[in-house]
Formats: sequence, C-alpha cells, structure tokens
Amino acid sequence: MLTAITGINWGDEGKGRMVDLLSSDYDIVIRYQGGNNAGHTVINDRGKFILNLLPSGILRDDTINVMGPGMVIDVEHLYGEVARLREAGIKITPDNLKISDRATICMPYHKLLDNLEEDRLGDAKFGSTRRGIAPVYADKYMKKTLRMGDLLDMEQTARYLPSIVEWKNLTIAGGYGHEPIKADEMILWLEKFGLPFADYICDTTEYLESAINAGKSIIFEAQLGALRDIDFGIYPYTSSSSTIAAYAPIGAGIPSHKLDRVIGIMKAYSTCVGEGPFTAELFGDEAEKLRRAGGEYGAATGRPRRVGGFDVPASRYGVLIQGADEIALTKLDVLSYMDKIPVCVAYDINGTITQRFPVGHALAVAKPVYEYLPGWQTDISGCRSFSQLPPAAKDYVKYIEKATGSRIRYVSVGAGREEYFEM
Ligand code: GDP
Ligand code: MG
Repeated sequence: MLTAITGINWGDEGKGRMVDLLSSDYDIVIRYQGGNNAGHTVINDRGKFILNLLPSGILRDDTINVMGPGMVIDVEHLYGEVARLREAGIKITPDNLKISDRATICMPYHKLLDNLEEDRLGDAKFGSTRRGIAPVYADKYMKKTLRMGDLLDMEQTARYLPSIVEWKNLTIAGGYGHEPIKADEMILWLEKFGLPFADYICDTTEYLESAINAGKSIIFEAQLGALRDIDFGIYPYTSSSSTIAAYAPIGAGIPSHKLDRVIGIMKAYSTCVGEGPFTAELFGDEAEKLRRAGGEYGAATGRPRRVGGFDVPASRYGVLIQGADEIALTKLDVLSYMDKIPVCVAYDINGTITQRFPVGHALAVAKPVYEYLPGWQTDISGCRSFSQLPPAAKDYVKYIEKATGSRIRYVSVGAGREEYFEM
C-alpha cells in the first residue's frame, strides 16, 4: 500500500500527528519535498516533538524513514534535530534513516540570501521562513548546487564548490553588498555537519524498489498544503516545491510507482502563516480567541498564525488538487467554545459570488461570504466515535463533507495520538 498524507489547506493541518498515528500500519515513511521550513508537532506516549526535516515515522522504533530526492536539506539543522531527538531517547541510525544521494543540500549562503532578500523587500516581503528554501530550490533548477551524494566524495566537491561560490558572490557581494562567502568555510561546514551523515546517504530509489517488491507499505509525508504548492497554490506566496500528492512518487524517488491512496488533512478552520491572500481571514477579538483556542503559533518559527473560519472554496480546491480519496478533519475540538461557527461559504469577486478558487488578481480582491453554523459549546475531546458528538458537531462535519465534495474518514479532537475517531 502506497499512501500519501498531504495538506488540503495552507499547511499546519496536523499532517505530522496523522502520520504519527497511521504509521503503525506502515513500514516506511518518506518526506518527499521541502526542507526545515516544515514544522510538524507530534504528541505521543514518548513526549512532545517538533520535526522539521525528519519524517514523522522516526518516532516509531520499527519504521524506516527516508528523506527523498525532492527534499532540500540543511545538514546543520539536521545535525541539531537528530541530536535533540537522540537526547529524548529516539533511536536514529542508518538502519532507520536513509537519506537520498539526490537530495539537495541547503547551504548557509541560501539562508543568507533568503534573509538579504526579505530585508531588501521590507514591507513587500513574502513572509519567508528565512531558512533558505527559495534560494536553494532556485539553485537546484539552475543546476548549480550540491547534493547529498557529493558528501561522499569531498575531494571532488572541494574542486567543484569554488565555481559555485564565485557565482554566488556575484549576488551576495556584488548585488547585496554583503561580505563575500568563502569556499573553504563552506567545505568546513560540510565536513562538520554533513559528513556525520555519510553512512545514511544511499541510493534510496534502489532501496525503495526492493522494499516495494518485498511488499512493504509506504507513507509519503507532505510538508505544507495544496495552497502552498509552487504550481497550484497562491503563487508567489507559495513554497518553492510541489506539495501535492501527484508529486509524491517523484520527490520520494520512485517515479514508476502509483499511489494507492491519498489522505488529505483538512483543518476544521483556517490558518495561514506569512504573507499572501487569505480570504477567510478573521481579525480582532474573534481572531485572537480562535488563535488562542487552537494554539496557532508556528512550530518552525513561533510566529502567530493568521486565522479564519473554514474556507469552502479553498478547501474544495485543495481536495481536488490533492486528488484526496479520504479526509482527516483535524482540530474539531478547537471550535467547541463558539456559540456560532463562522464558515466562508463562497467568495465575492467584484460582485460575482463564486465557489471557484481563483488565481492571481482575482484572488487578491476576493472577499469572503460568511455564514454561521450553530456551535455545540461542549467539550468533545473525549469523543471516540461520531455518534458521541453533540448534534451540532455532527452537522458541522457533515456540512463540510458535503460542501467540499469529500469523504471524511478520520476526525481528530485533540493533539494526542489517540484523540481521534474513525467515521
Ligand atoms: P503539520 O505541519 O501539518 O504537521 O501541523 P502542525 O504540527 O504545524 O500544526 C498542528 C498543531 O495542532 C500541532 O500543534 C498539533 O499538536 C495540534 N493538533 C493536531 N491535531 C489536533 C487536534 O485534533 N486538536 C487539537 N486541539 N490540536 C491538534
Ligand atoms: Mg506545521
């Protein structure tokens, strides 16, 4: 069984917690895109963990974890993340973590360029996580960057790197007027933080092909959501990689295999980190209450997340773009305090009411059409079946299922591993 677990919205839907929950039935978990701009919070019997680069299967002893070719890896961050998890008693060895030799290395100068550019943009900034993700993907497509496999031949890398550094300094020093970067410092950085992973780097495609032939089951874990996809999201306020399920086999390194199942993680309300159009956004007191109830502060950055009611046009679109067979509706418990629940049922685009999710300028000017559904004002975090939900909560779930044309299979009512039920 090859299953992708992907985000329907803007990210932070609870993908990490669903991967943590569902991975008990799977042998392998693969991260297929993005880098340490991800923040997946997982709370289980072993504690509370924030994962940025490592697949969420790392928290289970029997699960093999793969970082696929579609990823960008800041090895210094990985070094720290692995150390932090080891301190918490998590086992991480070449047996349970395999890093693709094709994955791209996110270098210190990518982070530097991300910062220099966001600072230059000032008020017009993209709201980048400043972790170098856009610059490193840009260099990947410029074909001027190092891959994890290059760590296995440092002599060749030391010969090759100066030409990249020279090219980067055209922008860093020549353009931004920053102090130039130095190739020998980059080599030292690679040796210090990259080489410790030499034994983890392999041809993960070869490994996965034989694993699939042996009947192993795989979860493809996405970072961010459909609306941040580079092609189908709210460009240019997207991430720089393909976050959608259709990319999973490619980014994971097994392009010849087809997914059996796509589970879309959809939040019971909306959140969005950073800049960009966010039609359903709520403000003031209403927003502050929801933000506090949902603990909506970024796992990777600590930034307060923008919040809004459930967004029907955006979520319908997300379900479509992900090709989601089943939905996990998360954080339903967060809405329990509301006497009436705001739902953005359509967009008003220059006077035209539509449920279609627009692009570009039309999205920028779209205004939300809000309706209110009855609240339940009861603690539902103990509910372990649909039938235990109060009637208004049942109606809310059914409403969302119908409005988005999806099939809701799981509902989560708390952050802990077991705080959910299956429909
Ligand atoms: P991801 O990036 O999609 O993995 O999501 P994040 O981990 O960034 O954000 C989800 C947050 O919601 C985390 O802090 C989770 O612990 C928390 N969470 C997940 N599911 C639930 C739920 O059903 N109820 C509540 N109250 N919190 C949840
Ligand atoms: Mg997150």
